[in-house]
Amino acid sequence: MWEVGVRRSFTFLLRPTAKQAAALAACLHDHRELYNAALEHRRTAYRRAGVTVRYGDQSGELKHIRADDPDGQGRWSFSSQQATLRRLDKAFAAFFTRVKAGRTPGFPRFKGRGWFDTVEWPRDGDGCRWDSQPEHPAATYVRLQGIGHVRVHQHRRVPSTVKTISVKREGARWYVILSCDDVPAETLPATGAAVGLDMGVASLVTTSDGERLDNPRRLAASAGRLATAQQALARTKRGSKRGGKAAARVAALHARVRRQRLDGAHKAAFALVRDYDVIVHEDLRIVNMTRSASGTIAQPGRNVAQKSGLNRSILDAGWGVFLRVLAHKAESAGRELIAVNPAGTSRTCSRCGHCAKENRVTQAEFRCQACGHEAHADVNAAKNILRAGLALRDAAEAA
Ligand SMILES: [Zn+2]
Repeated sequence: MWEVGVRRSFTFLLRPTAKQAAALAACLHDHRELYNAALEHRRTAYRRAGVTVRYGDQSGELKHIRADDPDGQGRWSFSSQQATLRRLDKAFAAFFTRVKAGRTPGFPRFKGRGWFDTVEWPRDGDGCRWDSQPEHPAATYVRLQGIGHVRVHQHRRVPSTVKTISVKREGARWYVILSCDDVPAETLPATGAAVGLDMGVASLVTTSDGERLDNPRRLAASAGRLATAQQALARTKRGSKRGGKAAARVAALHARVRRQRLDGAHKAAFALVRDYDVIVHEDLRIVNMTRSASGTIAQPGRNVAQKSGLNRSILDAGWGVFLRVLAHKAESAGRELIAVNPAGTSRTCSRCGHCAKENRVTQAEFRCQACGHEAHADVNAAKNILRAGLALRDAAEAA
C-alpha cells in the first residue's frame, strides 16, 4: 500500500454577524464589478484595435484603481483582486484555445448578480488568515481583509497547512473553502474483500453483497419542490420583486439539492472504502450513452416519477458526484477502483451466465429462465459487475 499526499479542500459554514454578512456581500459585489470592468477593457481593446490585453497589464492597473477608490475597491485584499483578474485571464485563455481549434466560441461573458459567487485569497496570511484567533477556547475564526474575524463552523479537523482560502455564497449562506496541499493519505487496513456496484434510481448504489446505500427519496422530494419553484419563477416578470424572490428560492433549493447529493455520496463512498479493497463500478460514460439510446434505465418509483424530467437529471447527476467522491476517497485510502462496461449485466444470470431479456421479470425481480436462480435484480447486476471487474483485473495482471 503506498502513501501519497494529496491536494484536498475543506468546506465550512461561516457564521458572520449581520455587519460581516453585509461586508461579505460588498466584497463579492466589488470583485464582480472588477471582473466585469476588466472584461469590458479587454473586449474594447480587442474589438477596436485587435489588441490583446494581458493579465500583467490589468494587474499593473490595480494600484491606481485602489488609490482612486479607497472606500470601495481599496478596502479589499490586493491578492484576492489579482485572483479575480487571473480568473478572467483563464476565461480568455480558454476562449483563444477554442478559437485556435477552429471553433467559434462565445466571448467571455459579463457576470450578472448570482453568477459570481466566489472570492479567492490565493495565499493564507496574505489579506486573510485561517484560524486567526487560535487562543479562543471554543470557536474557530478566519480573518478576511475588510471583513474582520468571521466565525467558522469547523466540524472537522484540518490536517495540514492551508494554502488558499475562498469564500463562497450559496443562497443565504456563506462558506469558507480551504485548499490544502499534502494532506496525508489515510491508508486503511486491507479487508481482503471486493465489491461490485449497481447504480440505480431507487437506491443510489446496490452492492453485490445486497446492501443498498443512500436512498435518494429526500433528494427526490427536494427535486419536486425545485421543479415547482422553477415553474413559479417562469411565471414571474424579469426584474420584478416577485421574480427576485422566486429566483432566490430556486437558488436556495438548488443549493439544498447539491448539499443532500454530496452528503449521500460521501456517506456511501465512505462505507465502501472502509469495507472493501477492490471496488468495481459501471463506467458512467458508457451508462449515459447506452441508456439514452435504448431507454433501459430503471423505472423510477411513484414518488420519483412526478416531475420526472428534472428528477431524472438530478439523480443522474448524483452518480457523477458519487463516483468523483468515491475516486477521491479510494485514492487517499489506497483502494483499487475498476470501471467496467455494464452491457448485459442486468440481463445476465450471476449464477449460470445465461443472458436473456426474459430473466428480468420486473424492475426489481430477476429469475433466470435457464437455472431458476432468483435474486433482486440490482444485486444480480452488481454481482455481474464485480465479476467483470475481477476478470479485467486478472487480464491486466496476466499481461
Ligand atoms: Zn441462471
